[in-house]
Amino acid sequence: MKNKNDTPFLPYGKQFIDDGDIQAVSDVLSSDWLTTGPNVEAFENAMCRFAGAEYAAAVSSGTAALHAAMNALDIRPGDEVIVPPITFAATANAVVYQGGTPVFADVDPHSLLIDPLSVRAKLTPKTRAVIAVDYAGHPCDYDSLKAVLEKRKDVVLVADACHALGAEYKKNRVGTLADMTIFSFHPVKHITTGEGGMVVTDDRYKAEKIKKFRNHGISVDHHQRENMGSWYYEIDELGFNYRMTDFQCALGMSQLEKLPGWLEKRNRIANQYDRFFSDIPAVSPLKKNKDIYHAYHIYVVKFDLVQIGKNRQQIFTELKNRSIGVNVHYIPVHMHPFYQKKINTKIGMCPTAEAAYQKILTIPLFPGMTKADVQRVCKAVRNSLKV
Ligand SMILES: *Cc1c(COP(=O)(O)O)cnc(C)c1O
Repeated sequence: MKNKNDTPFLPYGKQFIDDGDIQAVSDVLSSDWLTTGPNVEAFENAMCRFAGAEYAAAVSSGTAALHAAMNALDIRPGDEVIVPPITFAATANAVVYQGGTPVFADVDPHSLLIDPLSVRAKLTPKTRAVIAVDYAGHPCDYDSLKAVLEKRKDVVLVADACHALGAEYKKNRVGTLADMTIFSFHPVKHITTGEGGMVVTDDRYKAEKIKKFRNHGISVDHHQRENMGSWYYEIDELGFNYRMTDFQCALGMSQLEKLPGWLEKRNRIANQYDRFFSDIPAVSPLKKNKDIYHAYHIYVVKFDLVQIGKNRQQIFTELKNRSIGVNVHYIPVHMHPFYQKKINTKIGMCPTAEAAYQKILTIPLFPGMTKADVQRVCKAVRNSLKV
């Protein structure tokens, strides 16, 4: 995509597909399996090894994974699930799909991660789960979240790690930090399968329940049935078609091999940005704790708009005009009309998230970026601040 000055457009995120990926998909396309086949289980096993979990269930998207996780917890009308507002709406929507009520806890002003003290304040006897979102690729403060839930063993901690595949918290991989962890393989995420998602967990019962849920609630899968030479199956609860195809899983495995190198590249680019912005007082990157390995799904800066004398929209437009693919992650979920109308959320209920939303911007970060691309973004951001 080019603008009128012929400057190539730099998106905020982009997939990386090589010949190995194409070969992997092409091999499956000429095999007997298009949908559920041997590559599904192979990808699940590879993800278990990578994320340090016992069980994994591949599904058709990160959103389906969140929905399946909420179903595995048997979230139903009357149940509350605490979520942060600074996330993609799918995190909260998954609770609504089950008829449950998402309750919004505010975020820490420096990291924009869910604030454990706000979680404590939002706990009620109806709370059934907390979904922690590892926003931007920075793991949440899991020790504090677990401390807050210490006296509430009935409340399950779920990680929406769609931003954080490969991140670590105190040397522990994301995937080992919560009861269930959700990943997405959408093209802007760390690895892609086109569309796709996964739940990893150490809980065998929940993994089985998710595998049933992704296949209409059918209790014996097609291959088992084939082995038994039987036409018989049972639906003992309502499910969906949330299956992932065999060629998508082959692509996922091929991508996963390259992930460690990509994470290093993402960290190198983020370090370049950090160094550059450390000299610009009106621009601050999000806070990064020392005891984590950041997965840098996105790179977010906060502007001191008073000092700059412009609003975020002006900066956004100037950067877009320079072919820099900036974005805003996210409009706080509770501010969406659907949530205000149907879930009865109110503007003002998460003041820290709402204030941060006015001044954040996501700038390009993906492994295929060159050093010159990074410098171009830095210069464009600096220039966009001039009045
Ligand atoms: C991408 C994303 C999702 C949804 O994943 P899809 O695969 O697009 O359905 C959910 N939560 C967060 C935080 C995400 O970034």
